Order: sequence, then structure tokens, then C-alpha cells
Amino acid sequence: MEADALRKIPRALAFGHDVLSLSSDGNELTVAVPDAGEREIVEKIRFSTGMQVRALEAPRDAIRERLKRIYHNPIPLPDRGVVEPPAVAVANDIMRAAALANASDVHIEPVEDGGRVRQRVDGILHVCRTITPELFAQVVSRVKLLAGMDIADKRQPQDGRYNLEVDGCCFDARVSSVPTIAGEKLAVRLLADHVQTPRLDQLNIPDEYYDAFKKACKAPYGFIVAAGPTGSGKTTTLYAALSERDALSENLCSVEDPIEVRMPGISQVQFNPRAGVTFACALRAFLRQDPNVIMVGEMRDQETAAVAAAASLSGQLVLTTLHSNDAPSAIERLLELGVARRTISAGLSVVIAQRLVRALCGRCRAETTLDGCAASEFNIPEGTVIFKPTGCSECAQTGYRGRVALFEMLFIDDVIREAISKEATTVAIRAVARQRGFRSMFGHGLRRAMAGETTLNELRRVLAGE
Ligand SMILES: [Zn+2]
Repeated sequence: MEADALRKIPRALAFGHDVLSLSSDGNELTVAVPDAGEREIVEKIRFSTGMQVRALEAPRDAIRERLKRIYHNPIPLPDRGVVEPPAVAVANDIMRAAALANASDVHIEPVEDGGRVRQRVDGILHVCRTITPELFAQVVSRVKLLAGMDIADKRQPQDGRYNLEVDGCCFDARVSSVPTIAGEKLAVRLLADHVQTPRLDQLNIPDEYYDAFKKACKAPYGFIVAAGPTGSGKTTTLYAALSERDALSENLCSVEDPIEVRMPGISQVQFNPRAGVTFACALRAFLRQDPNVIMVGEMRDQETAAVAAAASLSGQLVLTTLHSNDAPSAIERLLELGVARRTISAGLSVVIAQRLVRALCGRCRAETTLDGCAASEFNIPEGTVIFKPTGCSECAQTGYRGRVALFEMLFIDDVIREAISKEATTVAIRAVARQRGFRSMFGHGLRRAMAGETTLNELRRVLAGE
């Protein structure tokens, strides 16, 4: 056992999936896992460590036993003999639990009889503890203090941030407060430092889109828009698109809010309006440095949209995200943002729309057959075999583990270009696109559900009304 190899797998991953690192040799990491056939876990380890992974099988109990012994390090007490105030201990516990559960955010909020803490795991909030009224106020103050916020001011929304370390893994905790009628509510977004840049081939992009999308990402110029609501994985897709570029020979830059993943070789700028760094301002500064690719975290305003769209016409590849429900309606959204129709039709190369649905736990999912009602709702033959969640120790009894992205992609070819410049409506553009092979996210979702990767309930939850 090498101490070096041991540290390569973050604690949350080790305990979450019962993975034990054994040794490392160059870029190869040898690990013990309960089921070497489970590709998803191996992928996660590779993703997290950036190393090639050799998986050996070992009994789960034995792995757990070893993990407990290895990772067991007592939490150091604060300064000699001083007992931690309960609020400090509770605040630490809350964040620690969230980090270990791979939660994306934590909500600390007032309820009738005190406070409640919820974690968002795989896109869903779960209540994880309640706190007494006295302690609640202290915990809120403690977190605000850590984040550099004004603890005396409970009436204004505020935001702040601090660095958090949990078992050797570093997190950027972004805290925001909102004064509700019942008291202050905090939301803390956790961004892990150890997250690696995703690669395009790890995103589960449907085969029919993959090659064309990859080509658009490698193109010398163009305009790629990722559409979807908050938390739909748009930024991850753009990071993957960026990672297709050569960071050594090209000038790659991004302005983001917040920077979710640090990418080596890419000039990333944090959106910071207080310091005068807006999206538009950073974009203009980048353009003076002859960039090859510019990523703009989000097109929120007309000025940003105008500069970004213009850049796509002057020899840069521009990547950005937009809030729109689906790919065809992103065009209307660009028009609303004041981008000229001719700029859109000339510059836009592809619109991706996406959603994340929870993935069925591979260990406990169970077969079931489709009843008549669901059959007609989804237009699938009654009696079709699909899968349903059950719940086991691996998935915290939820039946789901991890998430799957559902995509649709609208490639702007000459026919679509012409439709855009002829002022076609969203409905008309969608119809033209369908004839040219465009398939909706919903269709992609159905295929994933039929393959047992997710459920029809997840499609209902995430794609309701679409
Ligand atoms: Zn399970």
C-alpha cells in the first residue's frame, strides 16, 4: 500500500462507491472495487484522478473495513482545550455531510419550529437534519461569518464565499442569504476543486449528433449555444467542448460566474461586476488578445449578446449558454436579446439543449411492464419491459444514483440558415429541423428509459410540459 496512491481518490468517492486505491505506477492507478464490471465507477475514478485505472475485484466488506482504517483521522480539536461552540460544530457537520454526499448545494432555512437543512443530490433536495431555533440563528451567523458577510444585517440579501476543506478535498462554498418572512435562509453552493474537466466522449451525446458536434467544437470559428435551465449541465458541455481544443497552440479564454472547474491552459476570468468585470467587458478585453475560442458563461444581457455574436463573425469560436427551453426556441431568445437576425443566421453553428435526469441505480433497478395508461402517454406499446427504482444501500434507498444528460441538437445548415433569415417562427424552424433529422430531448429520454438507464417518471419530472 502506497500513501501516495491512497490519496489519489477523494474520500467521498472512496466511501460513496467502496473504492480502495492499492498502488500507482506512472499514470496507472490500481484500485479494488466490489464489481470490476461496473464501468461507471471505473470511469468516475478515471475522471477524478486523470489516471488510467486498473480495477481488481475484492469483497465489499473487506474494502469497507480497509477504507475505515485508512481514512480514519480524528478531527483535530481547536486551540488547546477549547471546546467548539455547538454552532461551529453543527455548521461544520452540515458542510461535511454535504461534501461527503456529493451534494451540489445545501439549504439552511427557517421552518416553524427552528431550522431545517436540505442537501441537493443529483438535482433533488432531501431534508437531512433539523435544528433548534436558538441553534439555527447561530448556525446562520456562523456560515455568514465564514463567508465574509455582514452578520448584523439580516434584512438585505447578501452573498459571500469561503474555502472549505473536507478530508483533504477542497471546496469553494458560495453562500447567499435571503431574508424570508420566517427568518434568513441560506443557500450554499459547493464547487469541488478536485473535479476534472469532462471530455466530450463522457457526456453520453447520442451517436447521431456526436461527430457533427465534435466537428463544430473543433471549427476555427462559429457560435455554439447551450440552452437549458439552471442545473441542466450546460456548462459541463461547454467545458467538454473547450477540452477538444489544443490549449498549447491556441489562445483559449472564458469568463464565467462562477468558475466551476479550473481548466489548465485556459485563461478563465471570474465575472465580478463590483470590480467592473462584466461579461461584456471581459469579452472585449479578450478580443484585443486575438483569441481562438471564447467561452461566455451566460448571455444575460444585450451588450454581452451583441459582442459575443459579433465575435463569432470575426474568426473566433464563441461558446455560450442561454436560458431557453429547447434548441429551436433559442433562436427567438437570441433575437429577444437584440442579436440581429442576419448575425444569427450567419454566425450560429449549433444549438444544444439539454436536461439532466436521475440515473437508475444499476444494483437495485427492477424490471416492470408498461401499463396501458403510461403506454398511451408515451406512445409505447403496452406491456413493454422497462425498469423501475427499488432502493438499496448503494443508492441511499432512493433507487437512483448519478445522472444522465438528455440532449437535442440543432445544427444550423443552409436550409435552417435560410429559414432563420426568412423570419420563420420557432414552430416552423422546428418542423424544418425535424425533416433534417432533428430529434427532441424527449425522444432521447425515451431511448434512455427503454435502455433501463432512467425512468419515465424522471422524464415526466424533468420534461413536463415539453
Ligand atoms: Zn440501489
